[in-house]
Amino acid sequence: MGLGEKIMALIVQKYGGTSMGSAERIRNVAKRVARWKSKGNQVVVVVSAMSGETNRLIALAKEVSPQPDPRELDVMISTGEQVSIALLAMALRDLGIKARSYTGGQVKILTDSVFTKARILDIEGNNIKRDLDNDTVVIVAGFQGVDADGNITTLGRGGSDTSGVALAAALQADECHIYTDVDGVYTTDPRVVPEARKLDRITFEEMLEMASLGSKVLQIRSVEFAGKYKVKLRVLSSFEEEGQETSGTLITLEEDSDMEHPIISGIAFNRDEAKLTVLGVPDRPGIAYQILGAIADANIDVDMIIQNVGHDGTTDFSFTVNRGEYMRARKILEEQIKPHVGARAIDGDNKICKVSAVGVGMRSHPGVASKMFRVLAEEGINIQMISTSEIKISVVVDEKYIELAVRTLHSAFGLDQITA
Ligand code: ADP
Ligand code: ASP
Ligand code: MG
Repeated sequence: MGLGEKIMALIVQKYGGTSMGSAERIRNVAKRVARWKSKGNQVVVVVSAMSGETNRLIALAKEVSPQPDPRELDVMISTGEQVSIALLAMALRDLGIKARSYTGGQVKILTDSVFTKARILDIEGNNIKRDLDNDTVVIVAGFQGVDADGNITTLGRGGSDTSGVALAAALQADECHIYTDVDGVYTTDPRVVPEARKLDRITFEEMLEMASLGSKVLQIRSVEFAGKYKVKLRVLSSFEEEGQETSGTLITLEEDSDMEHPIISGIAFNRDEAKLTVLGVPDRPGIAYQILGAIADANIDVDMIIQNVGHDGTTDFSFTVNRGEYMRARKILEEQIKPHVGARAIDGDNKICKVSAVGVGMRSHPGVASKMFRVLAEEGINIQMISTSEIKISVVVDEKYIELAVRTLHSAFGLDQITA
């Protein structure tokens, strides 16, 4: 039996911004949903705002208020998805399919209260089950939830993926389909490297690394959810014609034992990085805690951390943050840390990026790091920071080298498509 052909499977499908990008595309999504429904499946659809809409709303908010209040920002930027759910419900009803739309709050997607990057805590979803039993397609707004006090929250950029997977987990769906504008997960972003290859399968572990290292095809929290609740997750294209559909990429729990694993499965990169350095801090216990504690208190995520070897009783301490948090983090260092710990100066660079090689095959193959460093050196690319785990190696380089670094590594690790 093919994908989703089990009679009365419960399927959650998420359609992203590009897939919902115009009236015609929304009607196409409706036709696709109708086909899944007509095969006897129960279908819950999660949608994003029409492409560009969330960016437009954020820009408008910033025009009015340079640092918008996070609660109010969430009230505003969640509206894009509300438009999408209603439009899709209308399109489905025009096809003769029973459909009802709901906001995140209406189906009680309960989150914490960290506005603009809230985490899902629980989903009640009673009305979803009732509608499904009533032969109705349920359409839920992605990216949004509600906190315990009834405030609207949003889940961070790309958060509709997480809404989809969390709903699939809560409803114990048979499958979760992430429909997007590419036909699966590739060895790297196909927009940057046209030679990138589509992967038929990728392990959760690798997908988690790829997502957390910048492959925005799936939001990282969606992959975490899928792994934790064993959701059967597939990335598919919403642009394939009826009858021409391919089966996308399956995110698998098992490592295929009969499959020879490539050493590297993919190259991920992230442009949204910034580096901060506290220069000349006293080299004594507690300094790292003081610096990073203040950053954590401000809810700023820290990624790579380096403390240099001390000399003359002082040391330099560097870390990276999301570029959007650079100014806020820098202000904390200037105002709270520098005078407090007696640092010499604060330095920073918000024109850096991170490039990473990911692969479970790395575990059994030494020498990946040295190959990576050699290949980058041959292109004259200076490495500013390095971090490794069992299945990934990441380097920070000047952002002007990003495309060169990604293309070079992609080809050096044999990931390019074999063309005739
Ligand atoms: P949606 O609006 O459907 O959520 P996104 O733009 O968030 O779509 O994600 C799809 C995009 O992710 C693709 O168009 C592609 O450019 C990008 N992308 C980045 N890395 C990868 C990768 N490894 N494989 C596939 N797509 C990737
Ligand atoms: N519309 C939101 C965004 O642009 C959520 C999503 O598309 O997943 O980030
Ligand atoms: Mg997305």
